[in-house]
Amino acid sequence: MAIFLGSIADDYTGASDLANTLTKNGLRTVQTVGIPDPSLALPDVDAVVVSLKIRSVPASDAVAAAASAERWLRQRGAGHVLYKICSTFDSTDAGNIGPVTEALSEAAGGGVVLVTPAFPETGRTVYLGHLFVGGQPLNESPLKDHPLNPMHDANLVRVLTRQSHNAVGLIDLTTIAAGPGAVKARLEALSTAGVTAVIADAIFERDLETLGEVALETPVSTGASGLGLGLARALIRSGRISSGGAPTADAIRPVGGLSAIVAGSCSKATLHQLDIAERSMPVLRLDPERLLAGPDEIAAAISWAGDRISAGPVVIAASAAPETVSRLQSLYGREASGHAIETATSIIAAELVERGVRRLVIAGGETSGAAVDRLAIPAFLIGPEIAPGVPVLRTIGNAQGDMLLALKSGNFGGEDFFTAALAMMH
Ligand code: ADP
Repeated sequence: MAIFLGSIADDYTGASDLANTLTKNGLRTVQTVGIPDPSLALPDVDAVVVSLKIRSVPASDAVAAAASAERWLRQRGAGHVLYKICSTFDSTDAGNIGPVTEALSEAAGGGVVLVTPAFPETGRTVYLGHLFVGGQPLNESPLKDHPLNPMHDANLVRVLTRQSHNAVGLIDLTTIAAGPGAVKARLEALSTAGVTAVIADAIFERDLETLGEVALETPVSTGASGLGLGLARALIRSGRISSGGAPTADAIRPVGGLSAIVAGSCSKATLHQLDIAERSMPVLRLDPERLLAGPDEIAAAISWAGDRISAGPVVIAASAAPETVSRLQSLYGREASGHAIETATSIIAAELVERGVRRLVIAGGETSGAAVDRLAIPAFLIGPEIAPGVPVLRTIGNAQGDMLLALKSGNFGGEDFFTAALAMMH
């Protein structure tokens, strides 16, 4: 299997988001969880997204993990590797966007790397190097209060410079609007001046198409799903993809088995989706304090599901309203309570699979990551989209046999997301 495009994603839900974008833009795409075991047989695809968890780890760990993934992707024929970062440029002065970008560039023999987190579909635009989140500059957006990576500077040239050894440049919108030739000329001039990474402006998808076309001629780029869109469209336009688009029907061949929903997101959207689900299926609300106290609450949840699940899908949710969440966090600490609940929901997901669940919907980014790790699913083929940013995923090489999953970031999906997801999974 030779692939055209490789990507290394710095977290799991970002990987799914990118894989979904690539699929929607015509590339048959697989998302792997880490670097797969050599024995894993991957289907014939155009793009592979290796999901890592390196957004907030020490820079040296992120560099080492990304370098291994890059080698793996190149061995499979990837001519271009996109380092997939968050569209809000989540990072600190220590990294990890700068160090990983420089390491990937060096591994590929040097050269300038195009960097842009722009993703117009979700309101992320870059103008004169400044990132806007909707109508606000990054440093005035909610990202200024992010618990792990608070973003206090919207000027990405400055932000990336602080994390880089080498000089960082800018390709502005005027140059991009002049087309790929103008962008290439500017890149060459910057390269001669010793620059090894450039922040590229992008406001509209056509800007990303221009950047994708130029990036495809280089070995490495860094960006969010927007740059993925540009690269995918450039690949299709180049005529190098002969598959004729992504055969998503193959990804949703029925798997049978039982179905369930596990929720750990406490976002407003998920809480509402749970209320709506209550009208059509049994919903168990876990007691978060009892979950933290020991394994009894998990055992009770499994026994509750056992009585009902053969009759139809069931929902098990740790999710709670903000007051309850902050009370628990003040008692046990934010990280400790979140992590303990993720562990509990992942055990519940694994126990349900053990009992015959093969169609599983998980609500919550971290919740999904913990469950996928516990289930030890090696890879996914990306299927059709259920709601913007959330595709149906078909497991590849899963020990329990083929499963269909939907992994939903908290705020994604309409109010009937759970029934909509299950309706696409048979
Ligand atoms: P989202 O995608 O909405 O951010 P995540 O799964 O990433 O969802 O994050 C939700 C976090 O909240 C997880 O760490 C989860 O374990 C935690 N959590 C779930 N239920 C509760 C609760 N009742 N109280 C406190 N934390 C909770």
